Amino acid sequence: MSQYVERVLADLIANNPNQPEFHQAATEILESLAPVFDKHPEYEKAGLLERFVEPERTIMFRVPWVDDNGTVRVNRGYRVQFNSAIGPYKGGFRFHPSVNLSILKFLGFEQILKNSLTGLPIGGGKGGSDFDPRGKSDGEIMRFCQSFMSELYRHIGPDVDVPAGDIGVGAREIGYLFGQYKRLRGAFENGVLTGKGISYGGSLIRPEATGYGAVYFAQRMLQLKGDTIEGKTFVVSGFGNVAWGAVKKITELGGKVLAISGPDGYIYDENGVSTPEKIDFMLTMRASGRDKVQDYADKFGVPFYAKQKPWGVKADICMPCATQNEVGMTEAEQILANGTKYYVEVANMPTSNEAVKFLQDNNVIVAPSKAVNAGGVAVSALEMAQNSQRLAWSADEVDAKLKTIMVNIHDAAANTAEEYGYGYDLVKGANIAGFKKVAEAMMAQGII
Ligand code: GLU
Repeated sequence: MSQYVERVLADLIANNPNQPEFHQAATEILESLAPVFDKHPEYEKAGLLERFVEPERTIMFRVPWVDDNGTVRVNRGYRVQFNSAIGPYKGGFRFHPSVNLSILKFLGFEQILKNSLTGLPIGGGKGGSDFDPRGKSDGEIMRFCQSFMSELYRHIGPDVDVPAGDIGVGAREIGYLFGQYKRLRGAFENGVLTGKGISYGGSLIRPEATGYGAVYFAQRMLQLKGDTIEGKTFVVSGFGNVAWGAVKKITELGGKVLAISGPDGYIYDENGVSTPEKIDFMLTMRASGRDKVQDYADKFGVPFYAKQKPWGVKADICMPCATQNEVGMTEAEQILANGTKYYVEVANMPTSNEAVKFLQDNNVIVAPSKAVNAGGVAVSALEMAQNSQRLAWSADEVDAKLKTIMVNIHDAAANTAEEYGYGYDLVKGANIAGFKKVAEAMMAQGII
């Protein structure tokens, strides 16, 4: 690593104490970017990296709401507006008890490069709250969303910052958030949020986009090796919206998903999570708010392994779709021992930096989440385009665009890695390819 990059990383760690997830994401990204700074000494003179690692703005606020028993509750709300060099801030809201500044800064930082990789004009941001949606009534969710938006509406807008969903935030929450935004603004600016319902400006294929996009990415990797998804076995972690889209597309393309998981353990289905009934049941489990994958085992009579992760299951391709840091060295060793050839990250930063290196050193092809899961935000940008033009594209049109975008992302990452002498290293290639455009835009716009 060049001295410049090393110094900025050390400063970042010192300036952001107690933010381990942000340190982890920044370390991986900055290590990848070092050769770009060797090639562009003018970047150091412009303090480009010091500016790049510092969010443009971080908003933190109180979110008071009243639960069904009449008790006043208070949560913390956040929006990290990280980088707007190439477009308005764009990125999801996460509602989960684990949410804090470290998590949102890591997600926001990743989002800058992910959004750039889509080739569409969107900057990077992320937000959310430590609110726990588990077991909350519909009325409680609505009142929480209204309170959250009552502060946030003044900081966002269709040309300013365009939030969307993430863990704990789906179409229902986006509906309540949009309703409150519209009421406070007194205007139907539906380009302010993406992931909306179809009746008020949502895009077809947006719910499927992250999972479908991830499988299109994997399909491209296999295609270049003369291979296909058909006949391959998969382990998918999680059972939420992203896992659902991935399972649906894998099945459609002739692959077989042997395991899915939840915070309570994993299920093993030797026949595959493959019938429409089984795939739809993932949505039922998510909507129930129970957060338990055991419900699948109870319903379909397959084995459930309590409190265990699914990575001991032998499969050709692993797709972690749950959340950050679910694969460390122990799991990476299992994955390698199982003879897995492709490790395709889908959730944001599911793998420790050490585990990524270990897998790569042992010839497992690793695809990084910021490239693989970019289909979600890409279709969000397509939703913004449809909203601003006051029109709606067909499912086939959106799906075709998504597919092209995913192939382009894969090829940009692969070609950039090659150009920088890293061979087929999609992790480094994705970081560098995403950064190049942002760096150029930041240089053009002066010291801001
Ligand atoms: N939360 C998703 C992501 O990480 C979607 C963001 C969006 O659509 O703006 O990319």
